[in-house]
Amino acid sequence: MASKRVLITGAAGFLGSHLCDRFIKEGYLVIGMDNLITGSMKNIQHLFKLKEFEFYHHDVSKFVHVPGQLDYILHFASPASPIDYLKIPIQTLKVGSLGTHNLLGLAKSKKARILVASTSEVYGDPQVHPQNEDYWGNVNPVGPRGVYDEAKRFQEAITMAYHTFHQVETRIVRIFNTYGPRMRLNDGRALPAFIGQALRGEDLTVFGDGSQTRSFCYVDDLVEGIYRLLMSDYAYPVNVGNPDEITIKEFAEEIIKLTGTVQKIVNKSLPQDDPKQRQPDITRAKKILGWEPKVNRAQGLQVTYQYFKNLSKEELYENVRFGEKV
Ligand code: UDP
Repeated sequence: MASKRVLITGAAGFLGSHLCDRFIKEGYLVIGMDNLITGSMKNIQHLFKLKEFEFYHHDVSKFVHVPGQLDYILHFASPASPIDYLKIPIQTLKVGSLGTHNLLGLAKSKKARILVASTSEVYGDPQVHPQNEDYWGNVNPVGPRGVYDEAKRFQEAITMAYHTFHQVETRIVRIFNTYGPRMRLNDGRALPAFIGQALRGEDLTVFGDGSQTRSFCYVDDLVEGIYRLLMSDYAYPVNVGNPDEITIKEFAEEIIKLTGTVQKIVNKSLPQDDPKQRQPDITRAKKILGWEPKVNRAQGLQVTYQYFKNLSKEELYENVRFGEKV
């Protein structure tokens, strides 16, 4: 039987590129798509020699054409850091809304199953803790994160509408903070910011007093959860993340220990609408997918640090001024 074909949007990004690797490993033909605004060809250059991999340089906010059969679509194209939302707010809104619409249309015409990447940001600054899928969230639509949060909320709504109205097979994953090799170094996110600062010999910038919490999931665990969700028959949203919660201050201290840096922590002002706490309730993922994370933070951070340590000096300083703008 011919191999199944899967389209992965955002293929040159952090999560997209790991998904490409996983689907190739599982024996699929993978079509990667990316407009390279925030993605990097470096993340997928190892795949170009494979006949199982094709790449389309395309912006999914515009009509998407893919010739031939498609079995699965994974929509992972989107800017995904607060700095990006400030720099490219309109593209962020368009890829979550118009892009999702185009891909749902493609899924319908190809009779393909589609999984869309949603986010814990749909919960906003949550008033329920930990967050389960039945919580509707606390989002400021006109704040700096609104362009991302509302695009993702619209994405979930239109995905459910295609499911109920057009009977498209849809899946929605709500992704919590995830880390690992190929994260963009200076995009303003906490983990690459701290490791980059440590490697450059700079102080680590903790925003606010660092008492806000996050729960970090290693990328391989996330990819496993997504793979299982795609193969399941469950159309409602499923949280995928690691419930191991930590304050940002403690997290910075862990990075200092890990990297052996002698620099200290400095506090900077807390960005507007920065969620105070975040922890996934993964009861549903456990029950429906039989999934839970396996990699603890000490293991995951070690692998991630080795990746960042091997970057060139140019890469280490790339966009570093941009990262300071927050
Ligand atoms: N953060 C920080 N210093 C940095 C970058 C981020 O203290 O240099 C904080 C940020 O304010 C947030 C947390 O770390 O409270 C996680 O930030 P990230 O951007 O990684 O993820 P998100 O806020 O989208 O969950």
